[in-house]
Amino acid sequence: MLVAAFLVVSSISAATAWSGIAQAEDPANIPHDFLAPVERGAPFLPSPDHTSSVVHRAELLTSLDTIIQARIELRGRNAAGTSRILESQEASIIRDLESVPVVALADATEEFGIGLGVFPVAELRKPFRNDWDDPRSGGRRHRGTDLLAQSGVALLAIEDGVFERSTVGSLGGLSVYLIGDSGARYYYAHLDEVEIMTEGQPVYAGQRIGAVGDSGNAKGSPHLHIQWAPNGDSDWANPFPLLDALYGDGHVTVTPLEGPPNQQL
Ligand SMILES: [Zn+2]
Repeated sequence: MLVAAFLVVSSISAATAWSGIAQAEDPANIPHDFLAPVERGAPFLPSPDHTSSVVHRAELLTSLDTIIQARIELRGRNAAGTSRILESQEASIIRDLESVPVVALADATEEFGIGLGVFPVAELRKPFRNDWDDPRSGGRRHRGTDLLAQSGVALLAIEDGVFERSTVGSLGGLSVYLIGDSGARYYYAHLDEVEIMTEGQPVYAGQRIGAVGDSGNAKGSPHLHIQWAPNGDSDWANPFPLLDALYGDGHVTVTPLEGPPNQQL
């Protein structure tokens, strides 16, 4: 039922997005339209395929964005042939997008103010646990959740929003900050690689933003250390309940804890 409903809504949105490409040619708005078909409040149906479909979708969105950028760059040049090829590739990607089910986590993440949320790691090596406030070296306390995964596994934006910046530090290594449409701020640390993004560039739920690594003080144990500040800035809170909801498990009871701001490991 959900899939059937999605396909119907998706066709309408794809048509809208397509006309958006032709008329406005604003790459910032196009991929977003493809995630919009998920109705807010749609039921989340956990599926073993959900991460792979999210990754596939994110890859398609990335390809679409590249093609749209290329088409924009060709504007005003005498390159009709190339434009036609790009247009045909674009149409093909749009068809593929329509065939990939969207993971609608709206119900699961509603309490966190997120309409469509996506688990940030495409594939985990181990189940994760609530490790907020665990002791760390130098008397520090853990101010995030560690998600163990293989190096190179795709890291995905949890919600629609914008890229804030990437940093390199001795603890967090290569890291990325995102600002979600919900107003939340996310910090992804120990990355192996970051997609090239400029400040303020839109990101979409499920979009690949980089890859798992062991940079900073995570040498030899690749994982994503993720922090979540639901009110923005550095007002970090325990991300475990959110991650748990995004993962679609639903069996773990947790008590969110308040913690001191910004310690990045
Ligand atoms: Zn950590």
